[in-house]
Amino acid sequence: MSLESVSTRVLIIGAGGAGLRTSIELAQRGIDCLVLGKRPHGDAHTIWAAGGINASLGSLDPEDRWAIHAADTLDEGHFLNDPTAVEMLARRAPDRIRELADWGMAFDRTDDGAINQRYFGAQSFRRTCFVGDRTGQALMDTLVRKAMDLEVPYRENLYITDLVTKNGRAAGAVGFDMDDGHPVAFDAEAVVIAAGGHTSLYRRSSSRRDENTGDAQALAFNAGVPLRDMEFVQFHPTGKVTPREEAGHLVTEAVRGEGGRLYNTEGERFMERYSPNQMELDARDVVARANEQEIRKGRGTDNDAVLLDISHRDADFIRERLPRMVEEFAEHGIDITQEPMEVAPTAHYAMGGIEVDFETAETPVDGLYAVGECTAGVHGANRLGGNSLIETVVFGQVAGTHIAETLGTRPSPSLSEAAVRDHVATQDALAAAEGRHAPAEIMNRLRGLMWKHAGILRDEDGLINGLRKLQQLRADAADLQVQADRTSRRYERAQNVRFMLTTAETILRGALERTESRGAHARTDYGEKNPSWRQNIRCVPTAEGMEIDFQAPGAPSAPVQEAVDEEHELDYHHLE
Ligand SMILES: Cc1cc2nc3c(=O)[nH]c(=O)nc-3n(C[C@H](O)[C@H](O)[C@H](O)COP(=O)(O)OP(=O)(O)OC[C@H]3O[C@@H](n4cnc5c(N)ncnc54)[C@H](O)[C@@H]3O)c2cc1C
Repeated sequence: MSLESVSTRVLIIGAGGAGLRTSIELAQRGIDCLVLGKRPHGDAHTIWAAGGINASLGSLDPEDRWAIHAADTLDEGHFLNDPTAVEMLARRAPDRIRELADWGMAFDRTDDGAINQRYFGAQSFRRTCFVGDRTGQALMDTLVRKAMDLEVPYRENLYITDLVTKNGRAAGAVGFDMDDGHPVAFDAEAVVIAAGGHTSLYRRSSSRRDENTGDAQALAFNAGVPLRDMEFVQFHPTGKVTPREEAGHLVTEAVRGEGGRLYNTEGERFMERYSPNQMELDARDVVARANEQEIRKGRGTDNDAVLLDISHRDADFIRERLPRMVEEFAEHGIDITQEPMEVAPTAHYAMGGIEVDFETAETPVDGLYAVGECTAGVHGANRLGGNSLIETVVFGQVAGTHIAETLGTRPSPSLSEAAVRDHVATQDALAAAEGRHAPAEIMNRLRGLMWKHAGILRDEDGLINGLRKLQQLRADAADLQVQADRTSRRYERAQNVRFMLTTAETILRGALERTESRGAHARTDYGEKNPSWRQNIRCVPTAEGMEIDFQAPGAPSAPVQEAVDEEHELDYHHLE
């Protein structure tokens, strides 16, 4: 099949909230760019986001302000966040929300017309703006419409397999068209990675199948960019357990935000033991571990779940605020206005990822940018619900602005024919591979390994064992049985395997290194937080593979530190 060559000034890999917002900024500033994704236009993971998007608008709680939003974010992140990123996020969030509203996003409103806000876990005030429980879909609809109005070109069903760099600078990327399989090379002056997270590495996850396979992190790492905070994987407390094909899918935090309570099978509201002040609205890691402990201690249901109940609230209120949840459970004969839902922890979000300078969104490789869930720094050791949608639009705008202001001022190498030929030859060899192991088999084994060895509770033996098994998997993955057309799901999975193995190794290595428990990283052999571990772990690519190094995060600015010192905290009981 002949190679297609495409030239654009800015290539944006990924068309969720992050990629689209970047493209809108560029288009508004008159810069030619191309956005692409593995799926049709409008079909990115962002559409699954449900409960809301954070900004300190103070619609219901006027005491809220950006510095408290920043303080809550740092507190939840156990002060491993990049303070510059947090401050930029919190300061800029209100403008991004008002902008989305101007572009037609139909936020839920209060009786006097202000943008309504709900409680979300571990936030001091009602700060989460929402569109029922379909906030991500509404965000995507708004951004897709805006990008189309600005005539931003979109290339669908395009899988990027490698980035190409030259003399330490981004030169473009190589991939294939999933509709007919032909290889495509993109020549660009700047490349933006906005290709999402990695939680499909886990057996039970809230991700869409075959999405969130760690492509972004592995693409960047293979191009020479360090990954950081990879040990921090957020396990959401409330994933579905049935039906089997939906196990792990999310029961949105909005259920707890609107008053949902957790019970074990003995009828005990067990959060009273784990977090008597914040109860079900404590940080996700705290609630997830509480659920896991109850299940492990035999107080879970036959499906290894605890019970989430919101039926004490008025049925019409539940239908209005949680329409998607009502619908999804009704499809399986469960009326959540009358009965509880079975829930258990599920892998949900990647706090770790690509290292960037948040003031520009650029990685250490010149001309290579990263935005959205694929980056590390905003969330530190754990993420506040509602902070990732806002991250996509805040830093999409930052990336677009910086690229527009600097494009053409630095040398930009063109794609070398030899490099493209090598990448295409590798794709050909993979499609023809005649080994013994099916890509789906490797993926399943990897997901089991990650769930068991780098899951919600970890220890040294388990992690070492996990790394050993990963080496075996790597050996088996070098002996893949593909023999498939490049339009096939089998070939796509063979590509996913490459990314998944790299990204998984950085999680295991980071988790083994961090001999303490902090945020989402819980070690049974090092159960306490250790102040000397207030350091970020970086996985740095080397000629031999990777090496680990450490970096201390900076200090918050004076207004943020002041808000931290004020020790704001939601007292759950005043809600009841
Ligand atoms: C069930 C669920 C509910 C959530 N609810 C909330 C919420 O209420 N509030 C909140 O703030 N956050 C929420 N989140 C998190 C939030 O949705 C995500 O973090 C955010 O949408 C990520 O956006 P993104 O643009 O970075 O990536 P994505 O939306 O994941 O987009 C990634 C893009 O990259 C493309 N891509 C990936 N790999 C490749 C490749 N190799 N080649 C080409 N293209 C590629 C994909 O096709 C896609 O277009 C939720 C997440 C889940 C799973």
